Amino acid sequence: MGQNIGILAIQGSIIEHEKILQKLHVDYSLVRSKEQLQNLTHIIIPGGESTTMTKLLKDFDMWDVLNEKISVPSGKNKKLKVFGTCAGAILLSKFGMDIKVERNGYGAQLDSFSADLVSKQFPNLKGIFIRAPRFTSHGSDVKVLVTHDNEPVLLEQENMLASSFHPELAHETRIHEWFLK
Ligand code: GLN
Repeated sequence: MGQNIGILAIQGSIIEHEKILQKLHVDYSLVRSKEQLQNLTHIIIPGGESTTMTKLLKDFDMWDVLNEKISVPSGKNKKLKVFGTCAGAILLSKFGMDIKVERNGYGAQLDSFSADLVSKQFPNLKGIFIRAPRFTSHGSDVKVLVTHDNEPVLLEQENMLASSFHPELAHETRIHEWFLK
C-alpha cells in the first residue's frame, strides 16, 4: 500500500529483477533520471559493473539525489528503501551503509559459482555469485540475514539491504518479498 517501487535501469541485470517483481504481482517503474527518483519508496540497484554505474549516476546527476534519499530522512522521517544486489551492494557501501566490501572478493578461481546458503529467515536458499563482492566487515547495527561459509552474504541495516549473490537469477522471490514487506 502506498508503495512506489523502482528498479535503477541504467546498467546491469535489470530484466531479472523485473521478472521477480512481476511474479510477485507488484507494480514498478524503471528509473533512468533524477526526476524518476522523486516519488519512490523503494529502489532496487541491480548487479552489473559498479564503476560504470557510479560513472553514469554521476553523469546523469542522479548520484547526489540518490545518496541524499538513502541517507537523509525526508518527509515523515522516511528514507528511501534500497535493495542492492552485487554491484548494487558495492554502491550501498558508498551510500553510507556500514559495511566494508571487497570488489571481486571471491578471487579469480571462484569468479562465479552457485552455493547452498545458510539462513534462519530463508531456508533452503541457493546463491548465484558472479564476480561477487565480499563483505569483509560490518558495523554492529548491521544484521546478518544469510551466510555462506560463515561469511555474511545478505546484510540489512535500517532501510538498506545488500546481497553479494543474485536471488533474481535463481528465480528466488523471498528476498524481494522481505524487502517489500
Ligand atoms: N564485479 C562487479 C563489480 O565490481 C560486480 C559483479 C556483479 O554485479 N555481478 O562491480
